[in-house]
Amino acid sequence: MLGLMQQQSLLISSVIDFAERHHGDGEVVSRRVEGDIHRYTWADVARRARQVANAVEGQKLAHGDRVATLAWNGYRHLELYFGVSGSGRVLHTINPRLHPDQVAWIANHAEDQVLCFDMTFLPIVQAVHGKCTTVKQWVALCDADKLPADTGIPGLVSYESWMGTQSTSYTWPQIDENSACSLCYTSGTTGNPKGALYSHRSTILHAYGAALPDVMCMSARDSILPVVPMFHVNAWGIPYSAAMVGAKLVFPGPALDGKSVYELMEAEGVTFAAGVPTVWQMLLGHMKPTGLKFSKLNRTVIGGSACPPAMITAFREEYGVDVLHAWGMTELSPLGTLCTLKNKHLSLPEEAQMQLRMKQGRCIFGIDMKIVDAQGKALPHDGKAAGDLLVKGPWVIASYFKQEGGNPLVDGWFPTGDVATIDPDGFMQITDRSKDVIKSGGEWISSIDVENVAMAHPAVAMAACVGIFHPKWDERPIVCVVKKPGAEVTREELLAFYEGKTAKWQIPDDVVFVDAIPLGATGKMLKTKLREQLAAYKLPNL
Ligand code: AMP
Repeated sequence: MLGLMQQQSLLISSVIDFAERHHGDGEVVSRRVEGDIHRYTWADVARRARQVANAVEGQKLAHGDRVATLAWNGYRHLELYFGVSGSGRVLHTINPRLHPDQVAWIANHAEDQVLCFDMTFLPIVQAVHGKCTTVKQWVALCDADKLPADTGIPGLVSYESWMGTQSTSYTWPQIDENSACSLCYTSGTTGNPKGALYSHRSTILHAYGAALPDVMCMSARDSILPVVPMFHVNAWGIPYSAAMVGAKLVFPGPALDGKSVYELMEAEGVTFAAGVPTVWQMLLGHMKPTGLKFSKLNRTVIGGSACPPAMITAFREEYGVDVLHAWGMTELSPLGTLCTLKNKHLSLPEEAQMQLRMKQGRCIFGIDMKIVDAQGKALPHDGKAAGDLLVKGPWVIASYFKQEGGNPLVDGWFPTGDVATIDPDGFMQITDRSKDVIKSGGEWISSIDVENVAMAHPAVAMAACVGIFHPKWDERPIVCVVKKPGAEVTREELLAFYEGKTAKWQIPDDVVFVDAIPLGATGKMLKTKLREQLAAYKLPNL
């Protein structure tokens, strides 16, 4: 027997409609690229999102066509989140920190039709626009009078002239809730970047889950600052959850240094903030010497990389701010686990509580996880056995965009490439990573790309890239190199060889010349063994 309840699709347009109707006067505050503060309301976001939808219709895009962004966290980006997805098109957020060649590759792979960019990224667009063969409209996220006269980009329009003259009425299409709404590429896999294509349904379920009390606990009483970029997995879903609960949203724009973030937090009464450890390192680095305190901030979600225990302690003991350690992935929309204690843990001694807080946390309802050994056999949740972490759930990918890389699932489970333990209370802790990638300041560096550049040098016989712990960036890459017999190359020459071939921050910090790289039986480089050999190694300039 079927239930007798109404069938209503879970659509992103319904979220912005709701925010307008029930939280219309709720504030959205943004630091703009120009440096000034822009302030308006959820009702304004909704009105302008409808104008965006009309502008998209004007481009004659079919449902499912991609509209890309290269943009900071700001109100115009938010309008595109709702206007593009709400109209049935797919918002493709591109990471502007990538090398321009990668930006062009991703835009072509996604077949982006329209690309909207903050003026900060004009040089990237100038470098790539000739290579982006599918883009038929370039839109600069600025006022009409801020558009420079001669950018060399054919047909470039300002955002305000593109959408500002459109009607504010628009009827959101009632599409299938399984339709795609947004697309985000990850470089955290081997080979080319791969796209995670989210659906309206997966995004809304994730936004519900993210707002739960033991997750990010978002409410209409919060003032929320997502420092995590909107080009990183939809800023962890915060824009959708904030609209759902009617929270105030505060966007930092491009000003991510400690001083700017602190001043914005204080000026806007921020109660809750989210970001990768590197950002909080800069914030605490600014506050500590001057003895500054938070007046309203009560909790912060830190994820994307392991949160250093000293950071959890500093936030708790010096600033009275609860740190919620989180783990997730682009492929998981991104939230998988959050570290909030259970009632029985609150009476534990501080040290025992700290041991728990350092873990990546417990599953959110909707995510199921298990750990397995090399044969795929499930391992016990005893907090000791470490194995490959697999997950499944309605906001986990079933495959990558365009089925790149084939079927990623193993018996219906998504292998995360992380190695973890799970304790009897369900707290998961990452102990290692089986995927061959390095995460520096929350951004991926492909070991293979680093190795390929070194291998292209005539004096290099073999190269292996590994990540080394760094107090600010969490990890930095170094490259171990075996020289060809009789050939010569210096550390400086090899590092100079990377210039222009990869983004600057993806250039390894050091070159270590070795006699041989340890190899396994099948000829595969044994990075674990190599890392053991480098146990005493110290990065330069530390
Ligand atoms: P991304 O797809 O860029 O969000 O990266 C996801 C990956 O980042 C995960 O598979 C982990 O390897 C790593 N990661 C994310 N959060 C954490 C965390 N809290 N601790 C350790 N590693 C993390």
